[in-house]
Amino acid sequence: MLFVTALFISCLVTLFLARYAWARRETPAAGSVAVMMVGISWWTLFYAIQLLRPELPEVIPQPDALPLFWFRLMFIGVGALPASLLTFVLLYTGVIARLNRRLVVGLSIVPTLVVVVALTDGIYHDWFLAGFAAREGQSFTGGPVFWLHTLYSYSLTLIAYGLLVRFIVRSRTYRMQAAVLLIGGLASSAANILTIVGALPEPLQDLDISPFGFLVTAVVMLLNIRSQGFLDVMPIARSLVFEHMADGVLVTDGQGRLVDRNPKAREFFEPPGKELSRGEPIEKLIPDLYTNGQMASEIEVHNRCLSVQKNAFYGNTGKIRGVVYGFRDVTTLKETEASLRDQLARNEQLSQALKEESIRDPLTGLYNRRWLDEVLEQEIPRTLREHSHLSFCMMDLDHFKRVNDTWGHDVGDRILVALAGLLKDGSRKHDVAARFGGEEFVLVLPGLNAERGRDVVDRLRQAFSELDFGPGGPANLTFSAGLAVVPDHATDRESLFKTADNALYEAKDTGRNRVVIPGDA
Ligand code: GH3
Ligand code: MG
Ligand code: MG
Repeated sequence: MLFVTALFISCLVTLFLARYAWARRETPAAGSVAVMMVGISWWTLFYAIQLLRPELPEVIPQPDALPLFWFRLMFIGVGALPASLLTFVLLYTGVIARLNRRLVVGLSIVPTLVVVVALTDGIYHDWFLAGFAAREGQSFTGGPVFWLHTLYSYSLTLIAYGLLVRFIVRSRTYRMQAAVLLIGGLASSAANILTIVGALPEPLQDLDISPFGFLVTAVVMLLNIRSQGFLDVMPIARSLVFEHMADGVLVTDGQGRLVDRNPKAREFFEPPGKELSRGEPIEKLIPDLYTNGQMASEIEVHNRCLSVQKNAFYGNTGKIRGVVYGFRDVTTLKETEASLRDQLARNEQLSQALKEESIRDPLTGLYNRRWLDEVLEQEIPRTLREHSHLSFCMMDLDHFKRVNDTWGHDVGDRILVALAGLLKDGSRKHDVAARFGGEEFVLVLPGLNAERGRDVVDRLRQAFSELDFGPGGPANLTFSAGLAVVPDHATDRESLFKTADNALYEAKDTGRNRVVIPGDA
């Protein structure tokens, strides 16, 4: 009676734990634990009913043709246990990533057949109970199917243990956990073997304590699921992270053939109506990924820009076992980057233009007075430092008012532009031509002494007089110039201006169309 009570309690406890495990089925192995718990629950319930029957024959009926009816039904639960233990270990050790229908159907075949055989035993054959005739409550002699089923169950269990042992040997991080799991699993087997060989102490003789062994196993499994470290190796990582991650992931085997892909990768690479098929070489699926064996760090797929990351993983022998490719959509990032670069370039252009504008004369394109000051600020000290010369020339057009009056202001402007062109073309790279104001121009000629400066300006004067503005247009235009030299006449900007200006006045006074240098005889 005590044993029956224990069975009922165990039944309720396992049902409760099954619910608990089922609620955590996001971890695929938790589903296996839930099935196992339900199996134990079922087992203990029908076992208890069967044991109670002799005491309460009125309350617990039994078909006449089927002695041990409840005992036979019990095997639905029994059959579920080795199968769920195996699926749990398969998932736990990472042999499979998740349950598939084929595996579930495959593992259901034998238990289903066993139940069918058990329920038809004694009517059509004697395969299961082997001609049951004894009193109820007495242990039965197993028939061939019963023993085959036991053998089958132990095969599954042994496979599960084998996988666990292999995992313990290989895994460093989860070695302890897996060992605890193995010991927990052995509890069910130990209880079962003790029962089968009849090695139980007197009060338990003829009773089956296996469900309690399985209960211990299932509780250890459940505790494992709860512990945080376990979740790391569990395919929960796969179901939660792999399936939902924003990056596309493709996994290939050692030969570069596709073995797995997550939904995001399918979204990136699958053409409409087609699937990325497993076994295809990655180069075929993504032609742009490799050029001459070199992996691209970015690829463009369906107008999206994807950055690529690659991680190879190696087997124990150091051989490549597979490669994980990660793909991140960087389209928006790229666009933002590009528009930012654009904006920067535009700003650069704008500030360049503003700067140009602030130092250029709009009509002639020559430098203006402001820039001229800056140039002299640098060039005068340099000339002095290098014991060199600098010719500074101020020019003023002769009788320009008259030109304007005769041909109009527009023609006057054209003359100013033409002279500017001459100044630019006729000077060297380091020379600076500037429009000083109105029809006055300035030329800075670093490195040139008075003599060579005069040559340059005379040549310009000559060229200016030869400008042709068409028939009836102005001709024989002239300018006067005053030239001052650093260090001969001045060593600072103000006196340089003043000296050149004085020389220019002198040129005007002495007949125009000439260059005057202070000290000219
Ligand atoms: P001078 O030989 O003594 O220099 O005689 P000038 O007529 O050139 O006399 P002044 O230098 O006093 O006169 C400058 C004239 O230059 C006045 C103005 O009509 C003309 N001028 C100044 N700036 C411009 C300009 O931007 N465009 C045009 N077309 N004419 C200008
Ligand atoms: Mg003037
Ligand atoms: Mg003038």
